[in-house]
Amino acid sequence: MLENTLLDELHEECGVFGVFGCHGAAEITYFGLHSLQHRGQEGAGIVACDNGSMKRIKGQGLVTEVFKEGSLDKLPGDMAIGHVRYSTAGGSSIENVQPFLFNHHTGPFALCHNGNLVNSNELKKFCEDRGSLFQSTSDSEILAHLIQKNYNDRTFIYSLKSALEMLDGAFAFLVMLGDKLIAARDKYGLRPLSIGKINGGYVVSSETCAFEVINAKFVRDVNPGEVVEISKDGIKSTYYSNMNKHHMCAMEYIYFSRPDSELEGRNVHAFRKASGKLLYKEMPTKADIVIGVPDSSLSAAIGYAEESKIPYEMGLIKNKYVGRTFIQPSQAMREKGVRMKLSAVSSIIKGKRVILIDDSIVRGTTSKRIVALLREAGAKEVHVRISSPQITNPCFYGVDISTYDELISARLDLEGVREYIGADSLYFLSKEALFEAAERNDLCLACFTGKYPTALYHAVKDANKDGKF
Ligand code: AMP
Ligand code: SF4
Repeated sequence: MLENTLLDELHEECGVFGVFGCHGAAEITYFGLHSLQHRGQEGAGIVACDNGSMKRIKGQGLVTEVFKEGSLDKLPGDMAIGHVRYSTAGGSSIENVQPFLFNHHTGPFALCHNGNLVNSNELKKFCEDRGSLFQSTSDSEILAHLIQKNYNDRTFIYSLKSALEMLDGAFAFLVMLGDKLIAARDKYGLRPLSIGKINGGYVVSSETCAFEVINAKFVRDVNPGEVVEISKDGIKSTYYSNMNKHHMCAMEYIYFSRPDSELEGRNVHAFRKASGKLLYKEMPTKADIVIGVPDSSLSAAIGYAEESKIPYEMGLIKNKYVGRTFIQPSQAMREKGVRMKLSAVSSIIKGKRVILIDDSIVRGTTSKRIVALLREAGAKEVHVRISSPQITNPCFYGVDISTYDELISARLDLEGVREYIGADSLYFLSKEALFEAAERNDLCLACFTGKYPTALYHAVKDANKDGKF
């Protein structure tokens, strides 16, 4: 993986983290968000709750940029929720940075989410027709307005559940009331959300890698369609939907999540390593060295090397210290960005037949540049092996591969892509191998197959700019 902040507009998703019943909840949330930083670098925010009163700090940039020394002291309380953002719906402006904080006549509440609704236009219109005015373009605000619309003097939970039932798409929501933390997951199970235990309290996180840092113990995943209420009475579980499926996003395993996270019981590194092994089994190729594109493809490269007995080499070195200052939108600057970010090690590569492992090809620009880098460094042959199938369809669930136009595999066949990236050979892992690596066969593979687990509403029109759908 090359960091999206440096390369182009490809987006990662967001991350959510919440704490209930722990002194210094904002600080714990800060560390939780820090370990979810890979899920979004555009903005971060924390709302903490102290005896029913809520305070918020949010801003644009990395967690360490938004929260300066001493700022967490301004967020007292034993309950907090936090968010790291990459804009998947809505723009990147500060109004869209979460969590959102609302006043309700029953008291304040805060909320944040990860994912993308497919019926947001319809729901916005529904709310606006009934008098709502939106301050942001984020899906989270839609939920807040729907809660309000569904209130009817019933309990907050009742209106939250009625509101959740109206949402279609992928999401993991955290809602904080004066006395409880609520976690909800979409009924298709597209986005991950896990519960942990810490010092007599609880934490909820997009990924379990955050638990390790704060010394929390994994309890369980939030189930698809489930609403988990965490209060001083413990954990209460109910469901807002009867239709509960398990269609975890395959890209969470392939690319987004951190290798040390467990996604519904399967470790991400173990998945990637298994996918690398299967990549060799499906298309055995003679070569001298195996190289992975840092960082997300290293596990798959290790698996490939182990299975093929071809030595794994550090042929590409990533400069970890290239910061956000280098975000440059122009094509010319992107080219430079890659060179700042990645170097090919000539002494390792020169004269060698190289297997280059990457986790995915979206636009094809990364592979094209890396193949060129390897050739310049003297590679004799470059065989590109991708540890996922060809991405031929847009994602409408929060992963910013949202138009056909930008997907090289939607436009070109295998040979066309190989020619474009300049590789000697190219192979993509099969869908069956993904299931084998994940040890399950119910993953969402819509961007590879075009079979979407939800209805699509307006999303199809948006993807259809070129009329190809
Ligand atoms: P591309 O250059 O457009 O083909 O992008 C492929 C590269 O981006 C691979 O190295 C992937 O690790 C990484 N990648 C895949 N999906 C995404 C995504 N949604 N956001 C950011 N990077 C991605
Ligand atoms: Fe993930 Fe692809 Fe499904 Fe989107 S379409 S949720 S990226 S598997």
